[in-house]
Amino acid sequence: MARARRQAPDEFALIARYFRPLATEEKGAFALTDDAAVLELPRNTRLVATTDCLIEGVHFPQDAAPEDIAPKLLRVNLSDLAAMGAEPRWYLLAAGFARGTTAAWIGRFARALRREQRKFGITLAGGDTVAAPGRACFTVTALGVTEKGGGIRRSGARAGDDVYVSGAIGDAALGLRVLRGELRLPARHARHLLERYHRPTPRIELGRRLAGVARAAIDVSDGLIADLGHICEASRLGAIVDGKAVPLSPAGRAALRAKPEWFEHVLAGGDDYELVFTAPAALRSRIRAIARELRVPLTRIGRMGRAGRPAVHVTGPDGRAMTLARAGWRHF
Ligand code: ADP
Ligand code: MG
Repeated sequence: MARARRQAPDEFALIARYFRPLATEEKGAFALTDDAAVLELPRNTRLVATTDCLIEGVHFPQDAAPEDIAPKLLRVNLSDLAAMGAEPRWYLLAAGFARGTTAAWIGRFARALRREQRKFGITLAGGDTVAAPGRACFTVTALGVTEKGGGIRRSGARAGDDVYVSGAIGDAALGLRVLRGELRLPARHARHLLERYHRPTPRIELGRRLAGVARAAIDVSDGLIADLGHICEASRLGAIVDGKAVPLSPAGRAALRAKPEWFEHVLAGGDDYELVFTAPAALRSRIRAIARELRVPLTRIGRMGRAGRPAVHVTGPDGRAMTLARAGWRHF
């Protein structure tokens, strides 16, 4: 790493003080004193690995609190593991702290990570600590396990499969608009949407239960329609979505009463981290049972069909085909 300014916290002291305590539960992390971790996999399991990078000014605002950054950083990764039907175990953290970040800020960041670790049963296994000359940038690599032959791919959908989504869609996109001051709502609704934007719920239990039940799955990170489009592409199919069936939270409904034209943001806005999955119609009662057991709403929103352009057709609230300006978020 570049030479730190005088008085700036020392890299190794930072690791020892703030990150080592997060790695005590994994012996193979060697208290972060060696070059890499050596992790043992349970018998007959496979390692499932994913990584996601959050950049200041893109994924979180410049003045974001560490308590808002850390949960999202981990959860977006855990959501990818959930979509694969995997059980999260470890994570690696490459932290590029913006120059001038104080030790106190890093301490708050580490405490927020610890709370997340406890919540999701994961432990830190390694990482890297650098000072970023420009914007802060945090990359987490999440590692999970799945039984040999388990897991869910995007590519397994078949024509005629039902399409489901968990939870409610659109809250995070609407939450971002609350955050930017573009949407005014009663306080309890605004709080709900903001919470869903900052602290999405990775559907880990659901993903694991869907392994062997769902034929294809993906998590909604870019936008419902774009992400279902990825299932279509990988499975070489198309999909039809009934806009009326897309599940909304009470706060989401209140937001759309104020701004009906924002229904597009609900369909195309990302960051919900719900699971979209397909399953044969013969498994409807099985899926209802999983929803009841886990107390997670699972809503049938459409059906897989033949490939077409666009890959996903949406019928709007009026029953007519909708044309979306964009299906989801794109970085480039
Ligand atoms: P190198 O110079 O070889 O990259 P480091 O000094 O960066 O090694 O890292 C030493 C140890 O500390 C390694 O085990 C690494 O995984 C761990 N580590 C460094 N930064 C972090 C971090 N932010 N979170 C977790 N582990 C870290
Ligand atoms: Mg290093």
